[in-house]
Amino acid sequence: MTSITQMVENLVRPEIRALSAYPVGDASGMVKLDAMENPHQWSEELKQAWAKKIQHADINRYPHPQAPKVKDGLRKAMNVPEQFDCLLGNGSDEIIQLLTMLVAKPRAKVMAPEPGFVMYKMIAIFCGVEYVGIPLTADFELDMPAMLTCINEQQPELIFLAQPNNPTANLYSESQLRELIQASQGLVIMDEAYLPFSSRNHLHFLEEFDNVLVMRTLSKVGLAGLRLGMIFGRSEWLNELDKIRMPYNINVLTQISAEFALEHYDILLGQCELIKQERTRMQNALTELGFTCYKSEANFILARADMAFEGQAKEIFEQLKRHNVLIKCLAGGHPLLENCLRFTIGTEGENGLLLEALKDIL
Ligand code: PMP
Repeated sequence: MTSITQMVENLVRPEIRALSAYPVGDASGMVKLDAMENPHQWSEELKQAWAKKIQHADINRYPHPQAPKVKDGLRKAMNVPEQFDCLLGNGSDEIIQLLTMLVAKPRAKVMAPEPGFVMYKMIAIFCGVEYVGIPLTADFELDMPAMLTCINEQQPELIFLAQPNNPTANLYSESQLRELIQASQGLVIMDEAYLPFSSRNHLHFLEEFDNVLVMRTLSKVGLAGLRLGMIFGRSEWLNELDKIRMPYNINVLTQISAEFALEHYDILLGQCELIKQERTRMQNALTELGFTCYKSEANFILARADMAFEGQAKEIFEQLKRHNVLIKCLAGGHPLLENCLRFTIGTEGENGLLLEALKDIL
């Protein structure tokens, strides 16, 4: 008789067995500054108006398979021209998976600059597609010769460019992005997860290039719990993606809640303005404490603890946990992130607690 361990070994690909599930730290009771969420609550009035909508949800029925009202709401809130199609995902994670499945075939390649969003690589592995990560330069810019060589020699089917990038929080040069898109025979995804905090968007690339799609999410603007990602672009691409999408991937409660929230999108954008103000304050405060802070176009700050406290990023992370503050430690991951920490911007109060804890620790 074959043991269950052997059966798993026989049936599950080694690269899947070698993976660890996406790590999510236990944040119960902590100041949660690890996952780039919007920390602001809704007013009681808004919550009540939302609850009224939810009351009328037909949860005995399957959701609308195309969620047209959500798509209309998104287009209006984000000023996306009618000519571009929209497809929704259960978070943009699901859309990354759909895109990777779309191009998956033997020897297909997905490429992204690194350090970058970990799910590009994870999902490539899930789908049995080769992943090629091209290191950024030491100051987190695109290494153009390396990127262009990879594009020309390996011809990746899919390229992910997060703008702003996670975890480096920066925007690359727009002319360099154009050069990459022009050089690529593959599909280029502009991942604008952090758009609400950024000084630039890339919707115009949809008009300029046939091989670009623009992906966004409601997670960072304040609706991470709803799990709603979206991708805009030419229907030639999105019609193909739609064929491999699960029929009811956006549930009834998410659809009703998103429709409601998008009618009040200005409130969410107002909260993002507060986060941007706090970002400036935190950059100054962390710099004063001795961290090297990189310029941020997102709702988090990448900081290196290499001036006053060399080699201590992990220790600072652990000590912050003991002070009930959860951030993200990037040390020990990508070599370019040696001694780096990522601080999500919280409310003024939460950021104050972080700074107090840091002063205590340092
Ligand atoms: N893209 C980037 C660059 C991200 O950092 C994240 C989440 N951290 C995502 C996509 C996925 O977001 P979601 O699935 O919540 O839409």
